Amino acid sequence: MRTVSILGVTGSVGQSTVQVIEELRGQGAEIAVEAVTAGGNLNVLADACRRLQPKFAVVADAAQLSAAREALAGLNVEVGAGPSALEEAGARPSDWVMSAIVGAAGLHPTMAAVRRGATVALANKECLVCAGPLFIEAAAKHGAQLLPVDSEHNAIFQVLTHPARVEKLTLTASGGPFRTSSHETIAAATPDEACAHPRWRMGRKISVDSATLMNKGLELIEASYLFGFPSEMIDVIVHPESVVHSFVHYVDGSVLAQLGSPDMRIPIAFALTWPDRAQVSTPRLDLATLGSLTFEAPDTAKFPALKVCREALKRGALATTALSAANEVAVEAFLDGRIRFLDICRIVEDSLSALEGNGAASIAKSPTSFDEVAAVDQAARDAARRIAGSLAAA
Ligand code: NDP
Repeated sequence: MRTVSILGVTGSVGQSTVQVIEELRGQGAEIAVEAVTAGGNLNVLADACRRLQPKFAVVADAAQLSAAREALAGLNVEVGAGPSALEEAGARPSDWVMSAIVGAAGLHPTMAAVRRGATVALANKECLVCAGPLFIEAAAKHGAQLLPVDSEHNAIFQVLTHPARVEKLTLTASGGPFRTSSHETIAAATPDEACAHPRWRMGRKISVDSATLMNKGLELIEASYLFGFPSEMIDVIVHPESVVHSFVHYVDGSVLAQLGSPDMRIPIAFALTWPDRAQVSTPRLDLATLGSLTFEAPDTAKFPALKVCREALKRGALATTALSAANEVAVEAFLDGRIRFLDICRIVEDSLSALEGNGAASIAKSPTSFDEVAAVDQAARDAARRIAGSLAAA
């Protein structure tokens, strides 16, 4: 019997995880569910509880406790709400935890799982971008096994046979919905256009990140913290078919890659069954039909976010904390229709500059505590809100 918890069960990754669990249960696998969490979508949370029968279900907003109790009535599940209940979901005993809350909101619930030495399937990249060195140190200290679920990092994990003999990593990027669009089209992009990803079905925040290429920059930072390679050893290449999920280049000239259809159930199933593998009904690759795979260099003039992320990574881990927080605020402002698409990256850059102006040394270093991370995260959000407000008013 395996016990699992799903943080962010109502999201795109969370729902794919539910599907994989159901499929494996259908084959006779004994998987018990300890805890599931939602942001605010009570209908999907209730559906997940019906399908998974968890012991504990949590909604993020404490004010929704009675609404959640009503929505989950009769489902024989203990209901919690608010930040401490989210952390309790990560802390409750389960062998395996899917970390699929979006944004820095996922950090503390995931850390609760890390601190008790659980196996953590990590979809939430913002946890690492926000608190990378502290997160990795805590995992090592408490014996938590981190299994990357982000498809690129999962691919690297699968072929990282000789970490000490790596020359470089190459992350593949689909290029997003605006890969071939003109500057004018991108400048006028609406939230729905930015969220119309050509290959992956994802939540709206990561979809916008994919459109700006910020997602690839966040993944560059994630890869650096997870695998311990500096920025100079991590390349990015645009691969519109999203079939090769990344490459590991070794010192003898060998290059290893993992391929698969663009379907998150593949890395999720890998993480859930690791170190074994299981039969999962994901779409199979048909190479003859595919015919060819193409690659091109990213256009950093059109998509400056990649460069901004690389510079933040070089500056220090608190710079990546600030970058991720400012980006969350900017993406939310764009999705709410308050700013334009091209303002997103500008807000991130200007927020980093504003924080440096307030004491440059403060973000050009690694954090020594989660309190320090929280303070920089808050300062970056405040700066980003101010800048977004002035852009919206202009
Ligand atoms: P979604 O937006 O689809 O889902 C996000 C989840 O987080 C939902 O369960 C949502 O709840 C919950 N949530 C939102 N805000 C809060 C909050 N303040 N507190 C607690 N829970 C909250 O995102 P995705 O599933 O697409 O992505 C999840 C994470 O995985 C992201 O970090 C993303 O970068 C990463 N990822 C996603 C991939 C994908 O293919 N989707 C691929 C690789 C990585 P509710 O819906 O109830 O509001």
